[in-house]
Formats: sequence, C-alpha cells, structure tokens
Amino acid sequence: MKHANVSIFIPDAGCPHRCSFCNQKTISGAMHMPTLREIDEALQTAIQSGADPKTTEIAFFGGSFTCIDRTQMKTLLQHAMAYVKTGHFSGIRISTRPDGIDEEVLSCLQSYGVTAIELGCQSMDDRVLRLNERGHTAADTVRACRLIHDFGFSLGVQMMTGLPGDLDETAMETTRRLLALRPDTARIYPTVVLKGTRLADWYRAGLYRAQTVEEAVALCSRLLLLFEENGVRVIRLGLHSGGNVEDGFLAGPYHPAFRELCDNRIYLERSKELLRSLPVGDYTLCVGTAFLSQAVGQQKRNLLQLENAGYRVRFCTVDTLKRYELTLI
Ligand code: SF4
Repeated sequence: MKHANVSIFIPDAGCPHRCSFCNQKTISGAMHMPTLREIDEALQTAIQSGADPKTTEIAFFGGSFTCIDRTQMKTLLQHAMAYVKTGHFSGIRISTRPDGIDEEVLSCLQSYGVTAIELGCQSMDDRVLRLNERGHTAADTVRACRLIHDFGFSLGVQMMTGLPGDLDETAMETTRRLLALRPDTARIYPTVVLKGTRLADWYRAGLYRAQTVEEAVALCSRLLLLFEENGVRVIRLGLHSGGNVEDGFLAGPYHPAFRELCDNRIYLERSKELLRSLPVGDYTLCVGTAFLSQAVGQQKRNLLQLENAGYRVRFCTVDTLKRYELTLI
C-alpha cells in the first residue's frame, strides 16, 4: 500500500537554535507557524482530492515538534486528531530532535494518537554533530530511539551526508549505527548549501567544499542499499523539489530526481559486478518488471557506460525479481 502524508510545516518552531545547514523557510516554503484555519484548509484540500484515509497521515514537519510550547503542541495535535477520529486520515506523524524526546512527551503524543516519530539524527559521529552545531550527541539519539520503541511508535530516522567534518566512511558508520536502532523508515539528505545559513558563510569563505552530485550519488546509493537490504524503507532521498529550494540554493548536490539517480547507480554497479569476470561481448540481464527504467538509467546512461566498458547489454524483465535484483541469462 502506498503511504502518503499531508505535510504541515512548522518552520524552525521549537528549535533551540539554528543548526549550521538549516533554513527551513527555504526547504519547506512555509514562512510562519500555520494557523488552525490553514491546517483545516490543507486537510480539506487533501480530503477533496481523494486522499486515501487508510494510508494518508497528517505530518507535522519542518521544526522540532516536541520542543514547541506544550499548549500550542497540544492544540495542533487535538486539531489533527479530530480528523483521524472521523476516519479521514490514518494517523499523525511528527518530526523532532533526539534531545526533544522523553517519557513525558511520548505519553502526551500517545494520548493524541501520534503513530510515527521521525528523528533528525543527521550523524552518529559526535564530532560532526558538534561541528554543525546540532546541540545533541549520538548517545541522545540512541536513548531517544529506545524510548520511542518502548512506547510502540513507528520510528523514522533522518541522516545527512557531506556535512562539514563528515566523510564517506563516517556516513557508512552512521548508517550501520542507525540500523542497529531498528528504525522502520529512513530519509537521507545530502547536504545542500542554502543561502542564509552558517554553512553558506563557511562555503563563501572557502572553509567548506560541497559534495558534487556525482559524489553524493556514489555515496547515497551505497547507504540506500544498506538500509533497504536490512529491511528499512528509505522514504526520501535528497531535498524535496517543492518549497523555495531552487531560489535558496547556493551549492551542493541538489537534483530534483536524486533518488532516481541513486537507483540507477545501484543497477549500474550490480550490472558491472555480474559482468566483471566475463569476457566483453553481448549479454542479457533480467530485472523486475517495475524496475526496467532504473536499470537502463536516465537517457540510457547505464547501457552506454556498460557499452563503453565493452559490454553490449540488453535488459529483459521478470515479474518475480525484486527491487535491485539482477540475473544474467
Ligand atoms: S533542529 Fe532541525 S529544524 Fe531545527 S534548526 Fe536544526 S535541522 Fe533545522
């Protein structure tokens, strides 16, 4: 079943300070805390456009939901809960910081019918967290994830790549440590330098080099595979193309179809792996029916790259093959 969110952005709300890379107003396009009337409008629009009540959740994103003023938090939840109770939506999800989680706030979220919590972990390396002024440690993330499990919420983790101080190996290690916390879902965001952030100042001063799209795809495709092969669904890869990202963009691996680039890369690497020990020539590789375009690549780039290496490949489809599975016939 395809899950969907009606996202309600609470830009920066509840955040104790601004992390080095963050400009929620640019990312979400939302300029202020939504009024109850605006929330109603968003939810009514979703209902009228046929949102499936069984699979659509109301999502409070874009800030640190559990750190906003408690009365305001309860008002928002009460409002959203009324729509869940009348059967228009399947649940409520929120995103917050690891240090915004404790028993008290989790029982409060539970009493308002919240079903899923997404944690902005960003890295499991304390040095990277410190350099990027996150204001929490990896130990806070471990503690928060355990509590979220204890209360029975669905757990989502969000991580970033290419932050100042981060390396491909530390990002791989972050993924391994996040997997050990048994999340249900993950989001991966390669760092994009947005105007109006401290990261933008560091970039302009020559203190930070952003990843290229190619570098970010090479790394994120490995992380994607690691999550998915361990049963964790990656529900987002790369910044959403909505909001004001195009206007606020300064540098970095922003691409509106970033996920697709990573999927293509996985198929390219797997094709190379299968063919590596074989002599150059013509081959047929099979992939799942739904994944043919990912295997071929945008503008047939995978086919061209394989051909450049001496392998003329034809892809055929087999219904039973799952995502990223490939066989040689
Ligand atoms: S806690 Fe999250 S939303 Fe708040 S400033 Fe940091 S990255 Fe942005």
